[in-house]
Amino acid sequence: MTTLERASHLARQAVAALDAALAALPPDLAGGAEATTMAEHFARAAQLAEAGAALYARRAAATEAYRAVGHPDAGTWLARVSGTPLGRAREVLSTAQALSDLPDVERAYRSGKLSGPMAKVIVAAGHCDPTSAPELVEAARDGSFSQVAAEARRVITRSRSEEDQRAREARARARRFCRVSSPEGGGVRIDVFLTSAQGARALALLEREAAAVFDEVRSAGREHEPHERYRADALVRLLCGSARATASDGSDLGRSGPGTHVVVRVEAAALRRGCTEGDETCEISGVGPVSVATARALLGDALFNVVIADGVDVRCVTGTRRTIPTALRVALFERDRTCVVPGCSVSHHLEIDHWRTGYALHGPTNLANLARLCGPHHSMKTNTGWRLDGGPGRWRWTRAGPGSSAFRPERDGPRSRPPPARRRE
Ligand SMILES: [Zn+2]
Repeated sequence: MTTLERASHLARQAVAALDAALAALPPDLAGGAEATTMAEHFARAAQLAEAGAALYARRAAATEAYRAVGHPDAGTWLARVSGTPLGRAREVLSTAQALSDLPDVERAYRSGKLSGPMAKVIVAAGHCDPTSAPELVEAARDGSFSQVAAEARRVITRSRSEEDQRAREARARARRFCRVSSPEGGGVRIDVFLTSAQGARALALLEREAAAVFDEVRSAGREHEPHERYRADALVRLLCGSARATASDGSDLGRSGPGTHVVVRVEAAALRRGCTEGDETCEISGVGPVSVATARALLGDALFNVVIADGVDVRCVTGTRRTIPTALRVALFERDRTCVVPGCSVSHHLEIDHWRTGYALHGPTNLANLARLCGPHHSMKTNTGWRLDGGPGRWRWTRAGPGSSAFRPERDGPRSRPPPARRRE
């Protein structure tokens, strides 16, 4: 038996085994634990299967074997056999082809440790800076897709010079548009492309208004909808001039905090020098990298809070309102861009938790004692004995059972905390 014949035999056996495992799925699976384990087995099998299909398809593409089965190019052939859209099939193929230059990434992909989309973002970063590939593969082990994609974007940005960045901004400026069309199915479609600075300004207002829409839906007890629909309602309100300026809890933090203001993060050294070097960043939160020249120009802008950082430390927050709570909030929003629970990448409707010492236990309201959590994780921590430990950059999420001495139901939760302490983005 040749190696290829043996591989083919094993693949057929594996497909038959998965088929049998799925056929044996009991209609009334009692324990949730078994269901999560089974879903994990199948998710891993799916990653392996996708890698197998991509790597063999790469070989078939190189030898033009698809012609023998009547297809003009490898993409249409793969789309046909895998039942995926053409664009997706081409993406899978081009990722598999690009992998041959990055052995670490190919090894991880081959062993089912990377999903296709994860491999794609790592390959893009690896081509700008091959030394980043092993670290990104490592980050993909525990990190969520959005965390790895953000890190890959930073690698790509770092490989660009200040001149490249300015040239990109000029190209974006030349491309800007707002297209309006009426789809056949009804409704109005608006597609907008803006420069990073324009987009950041518009998004800040849009997100504040969307949060106000969400507040109203919640207090009216209506069923929740996806965030993009609240954004659509918010856009109409803003354009039609019926925007609510105040948050539903009546505080003005929604207006002056980072929910309204755009946060630009720039390293102190880069700001002085006029360009970034090495690991330094210069980016608008939620929008992406900008040139240091743009960051400098935004320093005096009322809408922008420029966070001047030194590594992970926030050195200075500039803005028109320099009160300590606003600076603290900006720094916290900047540090915890997503829920801090490892692997969770929720970035909307986050809640502020006094994670180390609870608010009701007179825990201090300072950067070290605050963390942003999504609603479900906040509720698990408050009510079901899950614990947050470690601190920024090394968060741990562990469960202490009710029998354990580590289980201390907190009084820092939604039930006992006064409303102003439980703020959302
Ligand atoms: Zn979360």
